[in-house]
Amino acid sequence: MNYEDFFSDQLDTLRDSGNYRVFADLERHQGAFPKATRYNESGTSEVTVWCSNDYLGMGQHPATLEAMQDAIKKCGAGAGGTRNISGTNHCHVLLEQELADLHGKEAATLFTSGYVSNWAALGTLASRLPGCEIFSDADNHASMIEGIRHSRAPKHIWNHNDPADLDRKLSDCDPNAPKLVAFESVYSMDGDIAPIAEILDVSERHNAMTYLDEVHAVGLYGPRGGGIAEREGLMDRLTVIQGTLGKAFGVMGGYIAASANLCDFVRSFASGFIFTTALPPALAAGATASIKHLKQSDFERQRQRRNVRLLRERLDMIGIPYMKNESHIVPVMVGDAKKCKLISDLLLENAGVYVQPINYPTVPQGTERLRITPSPLHSEADLDKLVGALSELWSQCALARQVA
Ligand SMILES: *Cc1c(COP(=O)(O)O)cnc(C)c1O
Repeated sequence: MNYEDFFSDQLDTLRDSGNYRVFADLERHQGAFPKATRYNESGTSEVTVWCSNDYLGMGQHPATLEAMQDAIKKCGAGAGGTRNISGTNHCHVLLEQELADLHGKEAATLFTSGYVSNWAALGTLASRLPGCEIFSDADNHASMIEGIRHSRAPKHIWNHNDPADLDRKLSDCDPNAPKLVAFESVYSMDGDIAPIAEILDVSERHNAMTYLDEVHAVGLYGPRGGGIAEREGLMDRLTVIQGTLGKAFGVMGGYIAASANLCDFVRSFASGFIFTTALPPALAAGATASIKHLKQSDFERQRQRRNVRLLRERLDMIGIPYMKNESHIVPVMVGDAKKCKLISDLLLENAGVYVQPINYPTVPQGTERLRITPSPLHSEADLDKLVGALSELWSQCALARQVA
């Protein structure tokens, strides 16, 4: 076999379908979210980022930056080892306490990313609990799916956000088998929100453990940024709350918050926790500062909500279709991979507006979209530019408008 030909053929197929991914080469500006410099063949240009998961700009917030700088001065660069072998820095311990407090749980366990936390925690729980059966929402994130697959536990996929279907699937299962129900609060591509209370009612009736991915909600919802479960007063009913430090908290890392025993169990048995270098202390310190800030400041959340509302109003005025939801995510629907990529390219070239096209396999074919995430730091001028440029391109690409 000619390996190089194989690789290049596969890539050509991707290109032909419009699904080849090109990364924007960006240099974010310290303290100036959402501005960045973009590097390309012809030089550089200034862009406004409209698709970041640094939802509140905390990755450029003075509180976060100061904590990271202080920690570098104090502790240096890396952690120096796995958590077990010299890598547990006091910054990690403080962060885990902060996270346990955020979610009202006894304990929290830190991982190098949200992806790894889902993969390791679900994989460990489902494989180590004898006879465990997993009940996974149909739209769960790849990291959960991989963790479940890795566990080799029997898996039942219930219809997305459908507690009645979950109930049916749980009823079909041996009442004495250990069960784990895994789902998300805010689903990141459609921006819809799970009926957590109903899912908990069903799960509790079947004596199932519950595992909630709040990655797109932590920092953003609830009076202290504890997520949708905090907002709805449901944190104590969930067995495990999982989150990331890389999105609204603006840094990097992932975690689970749960009982002391459950965290200790995962910490003790999860390969993805044990055999990897701990996060740099400065990342942990930055995340702690960011979480602390968002526990007591509602300003960023309110400004973000205002900008989300303004964007939706402006899109309604010009008839550009977007998916309606209750969250902070505005998916502008294009429905064609090539047009989606073209609009994104032209926004970048002509207007300095950066919105990454979201294509298959991240979303189903025919639902290609521009996933826009307004932050508290986008200005009215930024908004004018985005909406003006979108309107022009919508006509240029002969896409349908919709009467509000
Ligand atoms: C991004 C994401 C993750 C992974 O979190 P990272 O910290 O980016 O690795 C997990 N779950 C969901 C739903 C996500 O969107």
